[in-house]
Amino acid sequence: MTTTTPAIKLHNTKTRKKSEFTPIDAKNVRMYLCGPTVYDRAHLGNARPVVVFDVLYRLLHQIYGADHVTYVRNFTDVDDKINATALARKEAGAAGTLEELVQERTEETIGWYLSDMGKLGALEPDHMPRATQYIGQMITMIEDLIAKGHAYADGAGHVLFSVKSYDNYGHLSGRSVDDMIAGARVEVADNKRDPMDFVLWKPSTDDLPGWDSPWGRGRPGWHIECSAMSQDLLGASFDIHAGGNDLMFPHHENEIAQSCCANGDDSFAKVWLHNEMLQVEGKKMSKSLGNFFTVEDLLAQGVPGEVIRFVFLQTHYRKPMDWTEKKAKEAEATLRKWRALTAGIEPAASAAAAVLDALADDLNTAGAIAELHKLASAGVTAELLASAQLLGLLTDELGDWAKAAKVDLSNYEHHLSKARQSAMETKDFSEVDRLKTAYIAAGLEVRMSKAGVELVPGSDFDPAKLEGL
Ligand SMILES: [Zn+2]
Repeated sequence: MTTTTPAIKLHNTKTRKKSEFTPIDAKNVRMYLCGPTVYDRAHLGNARPVVVFDVLYRLLHQIYGADHVTYVRNFTDVDDKINATALARKEAGAAGTLEELVQERTEETIGWYLSDMGKLGALEPDHMPRATQYIGQMITMIEDLIAKGHAYADGAGHVLFSVKSYDNYGHLSGRSVDDMIAGARVEVADNKRDPMDFVLWKPSTDDLPGWDSPWGRGRPGWHIECSAMSQDLLGASFDIHAGGNDLMFPHHENEIAQSCCANGDDSFAKVWLHNEMLQVEGKKMSKSLGNFFTVEDLLAQGVPGEVIRFVFLQTHYRKPMDWTEKKAKEAEATLRKWRALTAGIEPAASAAAAVLDALADDLNTAGAIAELHKLASAGVTAELLASAQLLGLLTDELGDWAKAAKVDLSNYEHHLSKARQSAMETKDFSEVDRLKTAYIAAGLEVRMSKAGVELVPGSDFDPAKLEGL
């Protein structure tokens, strides 16, 4: 805990305003983030909300205490895309039933996801519920919605939510139902009373995952799981609901409709936070443009997770984030420098006030990083370390890459220093020039002063180029 605790201000999508955040219960601040559908590796865009809202989680810890924050992020482990990947495996000759292959795929993907997000320095949430563990609660909520006149069964195994039964539908994204129909690919089906109505439950064929329900063997629609899980783990009303802005409609509008209708009032999440999307080198990431990559792809290319985190946090979460190779190179050089500066130093008791203030101002991570640069320039290393760690940077867990790349340069410094000494006597500087040129070519900055020679690795430092010198 710090002695000064700034008031957090957050931009609430629901009110379209930035306002002071007051938790419902400061002893238990509750947040929910929509998690991944576990059918494949997380791509870079999937990681942005995880990193951004991890900073919020850390900030809430700092202000309210780690024991007074509950963070839930779900795994959608029942979905047609998962079924499709399992079916492709079965068709390729994999052993086991389709249901077993589905389970194998979800387990494997959850493992990858947790490992990848861990490498980006994301703390694990307090609860990571899986949809398949909450089928009972979803069925109960659907029955309740039918009883209250907000949903209907079509008699053929489907249950649909009646959008017209909820007056506030569309309030989150601020759009009218007509605009939403025009802008979205609304699936028209014979069993819908209105084209906007969405699926709460659907029938499963015998080989697909399915659960017994009052409407026959079937599986839930996507939206109902977040309503059921958040209610079970956080209560009918809680503080913060976050996600990417691609989820605002229909997913979050549908969550609100389900939860508010089930609760019978306007409770549910108080503050809605949405992060903007991610681009790569100024273009939308897509497989057809060849600029699509997973977190694992980047890590395998040798981009450290800490560098990915740093680049993400350099852009405010409500602005589009552009991933570029140049930014990654610069981030690597900065982190290398800061890690050298703070090596062997104990972090200060708390982060710098300016860093806390920036984060409290609607998670201004870009501003916080600007403050870190100032602390580094001023040589205030203990505060730099504590402040960076509040952002999940310069932590021990993320530091292996910097250690592995650390090369003892003292021999090379000594070598150049001796060459300079003898050149002073002989007036022949050719050896000094040769060494300097070679060091610079290896990506080192050569600093020569009366005090001696200092070699500083730049972002393109390649230790292999020093061999034989
Ligand atoms: Zn959700």
